Amino acid sequence: MTDTANASTEKNDFIRHIIREDLAAQKYEQIVTRFPPEPNGYLHLGHVKSICLNFGVAEEFGGICHLRYDDTNPTAEKQDYIDNIKKDVKWLGFDWVGEARHASSYFDQLYKWAVQLIEQGDAYVDLQTPEQIKDNRGSFAEPGKPSPQRDASVEENLQRFADMRNGKYAEGEAVLRAKIDMASPNMNLRDPIIYRVMHQSHHQTGDAWCIYPMYDFAHPLSDAIEGITHSICTLEFEDHRPFYEWVVDKIGKKGGIETPPHQYEFSRLNVDHTLTSKRKLKQLVDEGVVSGWDDPRMPTVAGMRRRGYTPEGLRDFCDRVGVAKADGVVDFRLLEFSIRQSLETTTARGMAVLNPLKVTITNFNDAVAQWEDLKAEGVNARWDDAQQTLWLTQPKHPNVDMGEREIPFTETIYIDQGDYELEPPKGYKRLSPEKTEIRLRNTYCLAVTEHILDEAGNVVELKATIDPTTLGKNPEGRKVKGVIHWVSASQGVPATVRLYEQLFAVEDPSSVSDVHEALNLNSLTELAAVVEPSLANSDAGTRFQFEREGYFIADSEEHSNDKPVFNQIVSLRDTFKPG
Ligand code: ATP
Ligand code: MG
Repeated sequence: MTDTANASTEKNDFIRHIIREDLAAQKYEQIVTRFPPEPNGYLHLGHVKSICLNFGVAEEFGGICHLRYDDTNPTAEKQDYIDNIKKDVKWLGFDWVGEARHASSYFDQLYKWAVQLIEQGDAYVDLQTPEQIKDNRGSFAEPGKPSPQRDASVEENLQRFADMRNGKYAEGEAVLRAKIDMASPNMNLRDPIIYRVMHQSHHQTGDAWCIYPMYDFAHPLSDAIEGITHSICTLEFEDHRPFYEWVVDKIGKKGGIETPPHQYEFSRLNVDHTLTSKRKLKQLVDEGVVSGWDDPRMPTVAGMRRRGYTPEGLRDFCDRVGVAKADGVVDFRLLEFSIRQSLETTTARGMAVLNPLKVTITNFNDAVAQWEDLKAEGVNARWDDAQQTLWLTQPKHPNVDMGEREIPFTETIYIDQGDYELEPPKGYKRLSPEKTEIRLRNTYCLAVTEHILDEAGNVVELKATIDPTTLGKNPEGRKVKGVIHWVSASQGVPATVRLYEQLFAVEDPSSVSDVHEALNLNSLTELAAVVEPSLANSDAGTRFQFEREGYFIADSEEHSNDKPVFNQIVSLRDTFKPG
């Protein structure tokens, strides 16, 4: 056990500190954690942090982690959410021990324990209306008022609870409450509701129940059933901990709880320009503001996967964020930094022109006819006469182990519109009427001889020549500054390329009550691009670095070799440095 702990990296946050001490004191044989999502939506970036923490510490300390659906509220829960949560956790690189569990499979036991509380005089059925219950809870300044049923006898309470269970009450007519303290300064201890009537079928238990336990009751007891040692949750549950401990203690050994679980709170992950609330994200899906839970702009795991984010990058991000007790907002650029880092050495490169500008090479045939003279100098190419194409063989990555690709070079090519400026800004290193020569990446140097304008004065085509001596080497007697990418017009493949900005324009979208007002209306741009064949001929889900443009992924749903579709993952670089 200690070996496993020592083998872990240097992570040493307060949770790991507690676990180390518990293990050193031999408090537990093995630690058991759980990730407990409610299946009422898709997982988001905030959940990734919780997953990395719960599964991560289990792995590091030779323990185990359960996946448990906290499915005590059937109204908003669905099988689709259950399935996708599993998929997301696995994709992040984690696995749970045993079957995925459901709080709903503990309903029988939870019911028995509720009866135990009634028998002990620790719970009662309240027949007040929901409004009365709310009004009588008091405020921070004022103690609550006891329910008229608070001191009913055990027998009366048992009968009423059985009646609740047997469907004799409508929703809102009766609830079971823990009997604690109506004057407690902690509102969560003012006789919290632990069971409510809901005449609703449940996705797991069907119509077996018309009463459902409240989260605050079901959660600690589900932890106890599963032998969870460290129940790790977010800070907003700190005020619920006294009730957590109360329930576990009251059921106690008598109810069969031998080792009580303990709750520990850490701060939620908040990232600027990002929403981490299933409810609000669901609203965007339901209203069609985004194309679905997996829209690449969504901070959901499904969205980030489709966007091309990597599990390694997301885990690295969580490691960098760390685990603390103080709330804060993490810079979104740190996430992009982690993602970018995970892509640098793993993605093949290729050329894609996002805003094509046609270039006709007027000396193409003459110049290319001489390419064989350069063979002796290591130029790796082949001429296809039928296609009038020079196929250049180039590595896919500076790490040559990643293999090679063939790039077609033809008489007409595209370069990016941004690489030819009529009125270049100061310091501009690409093409303009003054600076006419540049290197085309992976092939010859190119010199512009003429630009053609449309009626509005926009450059619509360039005429140019190539220097036949510069295939794979520098020209003699002059220096050519700057390198640009290009794609063959006849052999390149038209592709849809989607660029993204933040989905939200405001820094803290959760602070805006109407989510629509927080949206960035420019979050999606679709371009008619042209890509080299090696990019088009890829499987959906393949990630690339488009040279000079950024990292992109062949869309998992819409990409095909004939009609390629790429999503921008992240830009190539940023000035941001992680602290
Ligand atoms: P939401 O408000 O989006 O529904 P939730 O907390 O209600 O989030 P659950 O499904 O109940 O969602 O959460 C499962 C686990 O994920 C919980 O332990 C919760 O504390 C944790 N979690 C949720 N959001 C975050 C976050 N932003 N940062 C860290 N952990 C989170
Ligand atoms: Mg919740």
